[in-house]
Amino acid sequence: MKNYIDYSKKVESYGHYDIAVIGGGPAGVAAAIEAARQSKKVILIEAYGMLGGMATTSLVSPFMTVYDRDGEELTVGGIFREIVDELEKVGGVISPEAADSPSIHTSFIEKYHRHVTPVNTFMLEVILDRMVRESGAELLHYARFTDCVTENGKIKAIIVAALEGLISVSADVFLDTSGNADVAAAAGVHTYKGDEETGIPQPGTLMFEVGGVSDERYNEYHKRPELPVKAYRTPEEGRYSVNHYRVFGVDATNSKSMTDAHSEARRQVLDAYKVLTDKTPGFENAQLLKVASVLGVRESRHIDGVYKITVNDVSCGTKFDDRIAVYGFGMDVHPRNASISGNFKIEVAKRYYIPYRSMLPVGCDNLIVAGKTISCESQAAGGLRCMPAAMAMGQAAGAAASMAIDNGISVKDIDVKALQAAIVSHGAIID
Ligand SMILES: Cc1cc2nc3c(=O)[nH]c(=O)nc-3n(C[C@H](O)[C@H](O)[C@H](O)COP(=O)(O)OP(=O)(O)OC[C@H]3O[C@@H](n4cnc5c(N)ncnc54)[C@H](O)[C@@H]3O)c2cc1C
Repeated sequence: MKNYIDYSKKVESYGHYDIAVIGGGPAGVAAAIEAARQSKKVILIEAYGMLGGMATTSLVSPFMTVYDRDGEELTVGGIFREIVDELEKVGGVISPEAADSPSIHTSFIEKYHRHVTPVNTFMLEVILDRMVRESGAELLHYARFTDCVTENGKIKAIIVAALEGLISVSADVFLDTSGNADVAAAAGVHTYKGDEETGIPQPGTLMFEVGGVSDERYNEYHKRPELPVKAYRTPEEGRYSVNHYRVFGVDATNSKSMTDAHSEARRQVLDAYKVLTDKTPGFENAQLLKVASVLGVRESRHIDGVYKITVNDVSCGTKFDDRIAVYGFGMDVHPRNASISGNFKIEVAKRYYIPYRSMLPVGCDNLIVAGKTISCESQAAGGLRCMPAAMAMGQAAGAAASMAIDNGISVKDIDVKALQAAIVSHGAIID
């Protein structure tokens, strides 16, 4: 039986904003930039000291494909492309056009991996910081959303654990890009986790980077069977991002679960490093350069939204009238426990679509959710959880919030055709 204590406190107000974005991952960064460019007063609140979410705190690279299933036509533009262009100027990226598959950039995986975008994760931090500041959005790092105050089906203010103590932030519209649907859950929106039958989410992985690899030998080895470890060449010669082993059943909304999973994942990194150096041609002299400081989480909560994207929508390519993004990566569902094998069991359409309604939570009128926690069946999230798709959703969420404020209406009542026209004029792809 759980014990409780009562706790109440007056919390100092940090300020009022048009739009408060919670979570500075791929979705949150794009949302904040887009909204601030529409002359809105925006604050972006991020728990860690850097922007980029899984891409930087968890060293996830490359950005997955931005082409359709067959690698023929682009699916994501807009702020994603601007970020790539800025990275290109500092040599921190290989553009999607140049990183085709099978190749050392995709660990030789061909299916659904055409045209990925390998990134230097530190350069990404630098560029994202600059782009958000240049957009005019205010940044608050080392600040973790903890709770919210709601009134008549709306969020009035959020409570944030800042380094100086608890603070409150009020806003007209809130964007939940926390990758955990933390704000939605605290606002009373119904959420669910993992697979529809078991509730088990996709597994987590602690990513790491190694250097000193012979690209030539690794490439040559590929012509022989079975690679023991999945490793993706970053933009730098001889430097690889390693995505291997998995921790099963981790609950990203529970500190004890994350603590134990991270311990297990640390042991796995050492095992994987040994397999690399002992058994993978080209990696004999690989040095362990960097291990992610945050456990990579593939799946956390999903919200109950006005529309729930189904597996059928992704495999048939349902072309929603209110589509705000297109994607083409496969339903990459990793096994949920050690006995099941997974990945790409169900085919996707050549292009599939993300409707605006899947970002609108049922039961909260001034909240939009963007990124991997939108309303969709767990398997359907297997593809659209990727970083470029999260950026496309974030950009649309930022534009939608801005339109709602301009028109003095709820985010649920905006003119979706006008939203589509606005994001397309900013480079987004919706067809
Ligand atoms: C091991 C692994 C491998 C992957 N491989 C790829 C790949 O190769 N290519 C690809 O494109 N995608 C890949 N993905 C998927 C991708 O990384 C994520 O789905 C994507 O980052 C989701 O973006 P997001 O913005 O929704 O959330 P996140 O990236 O999770 O960002 C959420 C942000 O919110 C912050 N935050 C969370 N809670 C709070 C809070 N309470 N208060 C304040 N801030 C908060 C977090 O610190 C984080 O910065 C992989 C994921 C994993 C785990």
